[in-house]
Parts: sequence; C-alpha cells; structure tokens
Amino acid sequence: MRWDLPTPGFSFELLAALGHARAGILHTPRGAIETPVFMPVGTAGTVKAMTPDELRAPPLDAKIILGNTYHLYLRPGLDVIEPLGGLHEFAAWDRPILTDSGGFQVFSLAAINTVDDDGVTFRSHIDGSEHRLTPEVSMRIQSVLGSDIAMCFDECPPGDAAPEVHERALARTTAWARRCRLAPRANGQALFGIVQGGTDTARRLRHMGEITALDFDGHALGGLAVGENLADTYRILDEVTHQLPAERPRYLMGVGTPADLEHGIAAGIDMFDCVMPTRNARNGYLFTSAGRVNIPNAQYKTDAAPIDAECPCATCRTHSRAYLRHLYLSREILYSRLATLHNLTFYARHVRALRERILRDGQRA
Ligand SMILES: [Zn+2]
Repeated sequence: MRWDLPTPGFSFELLAALGHARAGILHTPRGAIETPVFMPVGTAGTVKAMTPDELRAPPLDAKIILGNTYHLYLRPGLDVIEPLGGLHEFAAWDRPILTDSGGFQVFSLAAINTVDDDGVTFRSHIDGSEHRLTPEVSMRIQSVLGSDIAMCFDECPPGDAAPEVHERALARTTAWARRCRLAPRANGQALFGIVQGGTDTARRLRHMGEITALDFDGHALGGLAVGENLADTYRILDEVTHQLPAERPRYLMGVGTPADLEHGIAAGIDMFDCVMPTRNARNGYLFTSAGRVNIPNAQYKTDAAPIDAECPCATCRTHSRAYLRHLYLSREILYSRLATLHNLTFYARHVRALRERILRDGQRA
C-alpha cells in the first residue's frame, strides 16, 4: 500500500506489519527512507565528528539526518545560511534533513524563557541576547534552512508538570500547529504535527485527535523521555502509537536507548532520533550486541578484540578496544570519530535488523 502525503513529492509506502510494528518506505524528493529508521542528530549543521561521506558510506548509510532550528538560528544565523543556499548546501549534505522547530531547546536550553499565547521570548544560552520564537518565526527559519521535513512549533512542558500546565500547553500547541500549517514553507518541504499530553492517556488521545485533524504529512509524539519514568513512556507508546493514522509516518522524538527503539517499533513508530549514540560515544559508552562497553574501564587495557566482533563498521574492522581506550584516555580527536562511527552504525543495524524481522515474519501490506 502506498499513500500520497499532502505535500507533493512525498508518499508513504507500507510494506509489512507485525502486530503494530511496521516496515515501510518514506519517499521524499531527496530520496527514499526505509522505515523504521534512526536519524542521526546534526545539532549545529554537523553530526558531531562525522563527515557527510562517512555518514553516507555503508554500512552506516544514513538516509536522513536532523538539524536543530534553535542552534542554527543562533549560530551561525540565517544571515549566513540564507545566502549560502540553505542547510543542504551549507553542510554539503544532499540527502533528506528533518529540522525540529526550536521549541524543545527554547524550553530546555535557553537561559530564561517567557511563554505567552503568541510565542516564546528567550535569552540565548550562548551570549544572553534576547530573541522571540513564534510559530511563524520557527517556520520562516525552517524554510530558510530548507529542510525536507519541518516540525510544528510546540510547547513542551516537563514530564512532571501539573495538569493545568499540560492543558495550557496543549491548547497552545494545537493553536500553534494551525498557525504553522498556514505559514509559508520552502518548496517541497513537508510538515509534521506533534502530539503532546504527557503521560495521561486520555489527554494524549484527545490531543492526537486535534493534531491529526489538521492533515499533516506525518505525526510525532513529543514530550516523552523528558523526565517521566520509563514504564509511563512505554505505556503511552503502547496505548497511543497504533491509533495514529496508519497512512502517515509516525515519529518518536528524542528517544532513546536500543531497547526504547525496539519498544517503539513494536508499538508502531517509524522514525526516531536521539543524541544518545553520538553523545555516549564521545563520553566513552559504546553499544554492542552483548551490551554496553565503557571503554575507559581497566579491563580493556590490553584487549585486542574489536568493540563488537559482529559489527562491520570501519572502527571494528580496524581497531582494538585497547587502542580506543588509549585514544579516549589521551583525549585524542580520533577517538570521537571512531567511537561515533561505531555507535551510529550499531543503531542503524539495530533498527534495520528489526525492520528485516517485520518483513520476514509480518503480514505483507
Ligand atoms: Zn563497529
């Protein structure tokens, strides 16, 4: 089954389903993205430590990466990115890019923020300068960045926020989603809506109804993994995901561990992003098929084995744990590059293996 999405050039193809889990293809003007997919995070116009060639090369073969609106707007700024032709040109990345709206960072990173029904005024975490983000400003920034998939500007309250705080955030997020829908977009730019609602199932489902009525190209679950406990995250995934429209891609924002991805895929999620594989790599945590390797540990001092004997990445084909441990302890730049390549390859292979299982054991769509 293949459905055209509202934005011309985009369609979503469902190949197979296993329970609620789905294997499909998101077709975009810049190329096809096999789903489920993990999207490496390129916060400031770079997936830290990786060149575009390294991201594109198999076995990593990243088909889509993220860019962060908040970070790119503050630095280098639109006055740099606009004359240089947008983020694809600027960063020399020719495959799809998804940009977030800046909402999450404004609420979590900005030194101070003041939210009202029209938008958010905040101070930059870099230099303290004052800025204002509204749905229209977020869409304008994402339009200049020229991402393939833009996200609606939303309010993300903390997981433990009081019910009335959640209710006000939901009302704003719906009103802002309507305004994002009406704002001008770059040519061939799709727009996803975001479902909020914390860990209350009824509130989530009510907000899902409001957002899915607006005919977005895809739907995201936001506001998960923001401090609530894992059992609540999984319960919301289990109760809400499969009720999102089947003919549109479903994106779980900012989650998570390899086990979280497996749970999300089983619940019916198609797209993921998280800083975990890249950030953990730089901090010495490496993912393997036998669990995590904390590379500074003394047990790896003379360990001649690769990080993961089953991993086909260049790091594992070439280098020992002992060498990586040495690079890490010596704060060598090469460590971050080798470790990031491995962790991203692990995530890509993990999700692809789950996709293969759906194709092999599932019902053909
Ligand atoms: Zn590897």
